[in-house]
Amino acid sequence: MPAAPERAVPERLIAALREALGPAGVIEDAASIAPYMRDARGLFTGRSPVVVRPGSTAEAAAAVRLCAEARVPMVPQGGNTGLVGGSVPDESGGQVLISLSRLNRVRAIDPVNLTLTAEAGCVLAQVRSAAAEAGRFFALSLASEGTAQIGGNLSTNAGGNTTVRYGNAREQVLGLEVVLPDGRVWDGLRALRKDNTGYDLKHLFIGAEGTLGIITAAVLRLYPAARDTAVAMAAVRDPRAAVALLAELQAEHAEVVTSFEYLPRIGVEFVLRHAPASRDPFARAYRHYALIELSSSRPGAALRGALEQALARGLERGQVLDAVIAGSEAQAQALWRLREEMSDAQKPEGGSIKNDVSVPVSRVAEFLETATERVERELPGIRVVAFGHLGDGNIHFNLSQPEGADRETFLARWDHFADMVNDIVAGFGGSFSAEHGIGRLKREVLARYRSPVELDLMRRIKAAIDPHNLMNPGKIL
Ligand SMILES: Cc1cc2nc3c(=O)[nH]c(=O)nc-3n(C[C@H](O)[C@H](O)[C@H](O)COP(=O)(O)OP(=O)(O)OC[C@H]3O[C@@H](n4cnc5c(N)ncnc54)[C@H](O)[C@@H]3O)c2cc1C
Repeated sequence: MPAAPERAVPERLIAALREALGPAGVIEDAASIAPYMRDARGLFTGRSPVVVRPGSTAEAAAAVRLCAEARVPMVPQGGNTGLVGGSVPDESGGQVLISLSRLNRVRAIDPVNLTLTAEAGCVLAQVRSAAAEAGRFFALSLASEGTAQIGGNLSTNAGGNTTVRYGNAREQVLGLEVVLPDGRVWDGLRALRKDNTGYDLKHLFIGAEGTLGIITAAVLRLYPAARDTAVAMAAVRDPRAAVALLAELQAEHAEVVTSFEYLPRIGVEFVLRHAPASRDPFARAYRHYALIELSSSRPGAALRGALEQALARGLERGQVLDAVIAGSEAQAQALWRLREEMSDAQKPEGGSIKNDVSVPVSRVAEFLETATERVERELPGIRVVAFGHLGDGNIHFNLSQPEGADRETFLARWDHFADMVNDIVAGFGGSFSAEHGIGRLKREVLARYRSPVELDLMRRIKAAIDPHNLMNPGKIL
């Protein structure tokens, strides 16, 4: 990709930002700015002379207004854990980064209305704890929840481990507060479950990756806290057996199936090799596993018994080969750790080509067979580390380099393998980006797989809300 042409943020604008936000709101020294410029995977490193850190919605609006008047583009950033390069500026040096991390107050909790109003810079784990302290439950849960912020979660419409039951980030939102690209504030912080009053504007900003405005606060949906939980890891015959087990559990216990993840042996081996203190819960190795969590707000809901029965039936049919049910919170966490560490554990194994794809749940097994056979034929020795949120059809179809291969030579074939996988995904009616979004990484892929009509609608929405293309330009479109 050609480097962005050199541009500068006018000194006059930086002085005005300093004046409006004070010393706590503007960072100008290069060493402090550097971490904001590099994305989580190190795929993109941008440049900017200034990072703005508003401490209130009014300050965010003032900063945006000043940038808009100077026609200087802005890049919103939350926890900077995004995986598609959406949260960092380009290389021109002419964009202002706006970090939401100081906007981090939980403004209100209404345990009866089951809502929590959070500012955009609240870290996801902080929102989950605040809900728990009030005896309630916030459903969104990701491996990055200790760093990712709620504004970033909503802007990427994050998925995660509980989508099978509660849906994506979009489903957790009742209201939004947004600073528009011209600096006006849209106060849509309504805490209503019924509100059919014209276009539902919040859904435009959710998943927009900061290209339409800056989310400054949200009214989030809560649920009653879980009072009974059961976690199991099952060794399954193959992915088809895992899907059959999911279908059976959902048929009998739909309202308590909170997570259903698929783990391949190779991914578990990577974790056992590279994540300290991880251990194999089984005495022998199996090729495929399902990690299952059931939870209920009803104390004594007998979830363990329900899980035991379903697994026993699976054993009788030969779909389940072995299973462990966690006997304590610590054991449940140890099982979850095998799943949570699976991304990081691929790093020491060399180059890894990432494909965050989804297909209909009923077709996951067929997709895995087809795609695995195709990439293995293309490059014998390639290590398919396909794992993830089987319960919602989202598989991280990651490809680790053959053992001993040259990392750079392998990674140079990223687009080739991504195209191959994405074509197969398209054939299954799936998506080439299930939960990570488009950012900069997948712009060309979006243009390839979405119809001219769909792209035209997206461009018109962008032009209507951000006519000067100032809000996170060059991302998505
Ligand atoms: C270990 C690991 C595990 C992960 N697991 C998952 C997973 O299970 N599911 C999943 O969906 N993702 C996952 N991710 C990806 C990432 O954590 C999510 O996309 C997350 O929602 C990003 O939040 P963030 O605050 O870090 O946003 P950032 O990375 O800072 O930003 C992401 C995008 O949102 C925009 N943005 C950020 N804040 C705002 C705001 N307030 N207003 C407007 N735009 C904004 C940015 O400009 C950028 O385009 C994972 C990442 C890692 C590193």
